[in-house]
Amino acid sequence: MKSFYLVSTRLSPSALTRALIGFIALVCISLILATAWQINQSRHERIANAKVAVSNIVRAAEQQAQDTIRQADNTLRHLVERVEHDGVAKDQLSRLAKLMAQDVVNVEGIQGLFIYDAQGNWVANSFSSGAQTLNNVDRAYFVYHRDHTDESIHVDSIVKSRTTGDMVIPVSRRINAADGSFAGVALATVPVAYFQTFFQRMDVDDQGVIFLALNNGDLLARRPTLTALMTTNVAKGDIFTLYLPKSDHGNAVIKSVVDGVERIYAYRRVSGLPIVAAAGVSSQHIFAPWWAYAYRSMALIGIITLALVLLGALLYRQIQQLITAETELNIARTELEIIARTDSLTHMANRRCFDATLQQEWGRASRNRSTIAVILLDIDWFKQYNDLYGHLGGDDCLRQVAEIIGTCVNRPGDLVARYGGEEFVILLPETNLAGALNVAANVRLSIANSLIDHSGSPLGIVTISSGVVAISSPLKEGYRAALEEADRLLYCAKNKGRNSVEGRLITCVSNPHPTAVVNFPR
Ligand code: GH3
Ligand code: MG
Ligand code: MG
Repeated sequence: MKSFYLVSTRLSPSALTRALIGFIALVCISLILATAWQINQSRHERIANAKVAVSNIVRAAEQQAQDTIRQADNTLRHLVERVEHDGVAKDQLSRLAKLMAQDVVNVEGIQGLFIYDAQGNWVANSFSSGAQTLNNVDRAYFVYHRDHTDESIHVDSIVKSRTTGDMVIPVSRRINAADGSFAGVALATVPVAYFQTFFQRMDVDDQGVIFLALNNGDLLARRPTLTALMTTNVAKGDIFTLYLPKSDHGNAVIKSVVDGVERIYAYRRVSGLPIVAAAGVSSQHIFAPWWAYAYRSMALIGIITLALVLLGALLYRQIQQLITAETELNIARTELEIIARTDSLTHMANRRCFDATLQQEWGRASRNRSTIAVILLDIDWFKQYNDLYGHLGGDDCLRQVAEIIGTCVNRPGDLVARYGGEEFVILLPETNLAGALNVAANVRLSIANSLIDHSGSPLGIVTISSGVVAISSPLKEGYRAALEEADRLLYCAKNKGRNSVEGRLITCVSNPHPTAVVNFPR
């Protein structure tokens, strides 16, 4: 028998919700990854740019040191050659001093030129005929030349000039006597300020540094300058201990041993001279704008991510509400459909449901040329039942009868419906007359055997009468006639005394002549 039940399944979060969450998560993760990549990229770019910038500064510093000291050396070489050849006799001295003064004017970066004899006494200098009585035997460069026979250029640590009081870098050469013995020293002084002024023009930040140092780490010039410049040695710094032993030039990120500032450095040995040039820009200078950019980007991404998550949450809620609403609507629609097809008193299918099912099954039987049967049932003496037991009692009786009929109809395709009032109908697809009569007899007997009291009936119990029609190969639109025939047979049964079944097989509803009539005795 066809049955109806309430659909009460709850919808799980739909694929749309999962896709939405997945999409938003994907967008957020992509945004975060893209931003992180961009921030990291920009950090690398800043470092690369800073390395290029400091490398250029170091090249410029190297060039400046090389040009200045080479020029000083050229001047010294001529001087030495002249002194070694012409000697320093009294008549030579005034010419020599004049020449030296002229050289100082012509050669950029040289503050003074000096000639010392083997005892360190001042023999000639570029500062006219002033203090001639001084002695430089104590100077390191003098001691060096006295103790070393090599005739190459010598650059020594900064000294305070005895002539001007300025800090100067001594650039010197040994003067030999004719027999090769030590005859004195020729000295050119390069003011530290000369390099420092040049460094001031270089583009480094306030925390940045540019310096020249001897190979032994003694500083020769530095920006920013130091009060203890003359005595500062950077040999213990990472550039000298770690990097220069590996390569004559390169970049390094290190903390300065002088001021503790972390910088990106470029360093380079000045070619042909015992000098190292280095420059550094502070990490703070390089990364301050980068941090600002990174914080801005992270804040922006944070806001966008938050907005997306909120939007997602909002959409999720909306979708959930839609799903809930749709579920409730579906349940309500199903309930309505069930209500529309169910008889409220007996909870079996109603007339509307029967009519729709009959049309369907009739059409199928018509197409398949099969047999379909209809049983129309009517409770006997029901008016009297109502009169005797009241209308509510009548309702109870209808419910009992409906339940009994239901138990007699078991095939899945069969349908029991309340046809109206105290009348019921049974639709039996694919059923011949014998089968239908069997069902009708079974229903009649079951109701009679239930012994429902009915003092208004001659038998004293509730009974039922049925009109049965079986139609083989029905014509498409013939079901109305079939129902009329079933109704007619039902009244035949009533007329024959009730509690009985009248049946007929109809081969074609357009043919009014019955092909078989079967009567069941009371
Ligand atoms: P017969 O044996 O010829 O069928 O006589 P009957 O009294 O059963 O037939 P009739 O058509 O004269 O009376 C049917 C009665 O069924 C009339 C009506 O009051 C009653 N009835 C119809 N629908 C309902 C219902 O839903 N509840 C109740 N209690 N009575 C109903
Ligand atoms: Mg009736
Ligand atoms: Mg009746």
